[in-house]
Amino acid sequence: LADRLESAWKKLRGQDKISQSNIQDALREVRRALLEADVNLQVVKDFISEVEAKAQGSEVIAGVRPDQQFIKIVYDELVQVMGEENVPLVEVEGETTIVLMAGLQGTGKTTATAKLALHLRKLNRSCLLVATDVYRPAAIDQLITLGKQIDVPVFELGSDADPVEIARQGVERAKAEGVNTVIIDTAGRLQIDADMMAELARIKQTVQPQETLLVVDSMTGQEAANLTRTFHEEIGITGAILTKLDGDSRGGAALSVRQISGAPIKFVGVGEKVEALQPFYPDRMASRILGMGDVLTLVEKAQEEIDLADAEQMQEKILSAKFDFTDFLKQLRLLKNMGSLGGIIKMIPGMNKLSDDQLKHGETQLKRCEAMINSMTRQERRDPDLLASSPSRRRRIATGSGYKEADVSKLVADFQKMRSLMQQMGQGQFGMPGMFGGM
Ligand code: GDP
Ligand code: MG
Repeated sequence: LADRLESAWKKLRGQDKISQSNIQDALREVRRALLEADVNLQVVKDFISEVEAKAQGSEVIAGVRPDQQFIKIVYDELVQVMGEENVPLVEVEGETTIVLMAGLQGTGKTTATAKLALHLRKLNRSCLLVATDVYRPAAIDQLITLGKQIDVPVFELGSDADPVEIARQGVERAKAEGVNTVIIDTAGRLQIDADMMAELARIKQTVQPQETLLVVDSMTGQEAANLTRTFHEEIGITGAILTKLDGDSRGGAALSVRQISGAPIKFVGVGEKVEALQPFYPDRMASRILGMGDVLTLVEKAQEEIDLADAEQMQEKILSAKFDFTDFLKQLRLLKNMGSLGGIIKMIPGMNKLSDDQLKHGETQLKRCEAMINSMTRQERRDPDLLASSPSRRRRIATGSGYKEADVSKLVADFQKMRSLMQQMGQGQFGMPGMFGGM
């Protein structure tokens, strides 16, 4: 029991600061997760070394291991980097807001144009769509069809007109009619090419949009980084829409886009239908990219359950030998609040080796302790020595809790052993100063 209690204690107290050596495995896991999510390699390297430097020396909260806490820090940083809050589409007060769509062919620009219009219409913002893709024969018709579906007008001048001129007239029309937002759909190429960039630049120069949204297919993978860099350098983007997130992609492109351009992802496309557009939520995306939901849940639970001030008081008590059964019970309940012991242990990478029997045993032990402590009087809880010296008190507790007197004696003996061990550790006599210094 002493061993088991001791390890439960280590978990509860938080045992360490984050250092290079205790997060090696976690670092490797995080790197792999990001790469598997198709975050650009260079972005991964930069991001990880930044987070590692930041995390170095952080105190590990009670109930989790340093590597788990590191993963939580990575997650928080991911959320932070991707923008923390959802950033809505710009709206210019009392004027027509101009939105320019940019991106390669097939990424979902035309679809996103219609999706965005539907989204704005639901916010009572009137829209006009402008069709400037004169290169693909069906492109204009596609936008007209989508416009009909959502009951939003489309401005077009056929496929012989100059795209820049179409954009200019479209915006003029929107302004004349007092339309809230005009969205300009543009042509793309399969690869970035100079002509496309030059044309887009001219459109932008001519209409002076408040928003230039880069539409990025989330399946683009590693290439999303280069793509973003080029568009951002040559055109300048104010935001992005990440499409096709309804597929298997883990969405690493979101991090690449944000890291490289600094522009927020504003929406995500989650299907072919016009309704399939959602605001971008950095926390959800961070979970998707990292894919370590279990560990995050563990750390969050620990954070919720543990009141740091309380823990500090507890530490003082331990070090000054004032730690008693009341405190012990509090800690046991903490463990229980955090879910079943088995549940907690299974969330810890590499810890699922424990057999179900062992886990059950651990939980049974915790329950036993709690039952026996519950049968103690206040005085007995405060002063464990009372129990050590009084067989009749131990018998009463055994009867009250339904265990044997020997069980109670063992609990008391173990508790006293543990308490003196902790004091010694606290005084650094075991060569483990800082054992409880994590708080
Ligand atoms: P554009 O060339 O950039 O204008 O791309 P389109 O809007 O024509 O879309 C290309 C293809 O991707 C079409 O078949 C769309 O239905 C599809 N598409 C667009 N957005 C999404 C999305 O979020 N999810 C899925 N599954 N398909 C999408
Ligand atoms: Mg198109």
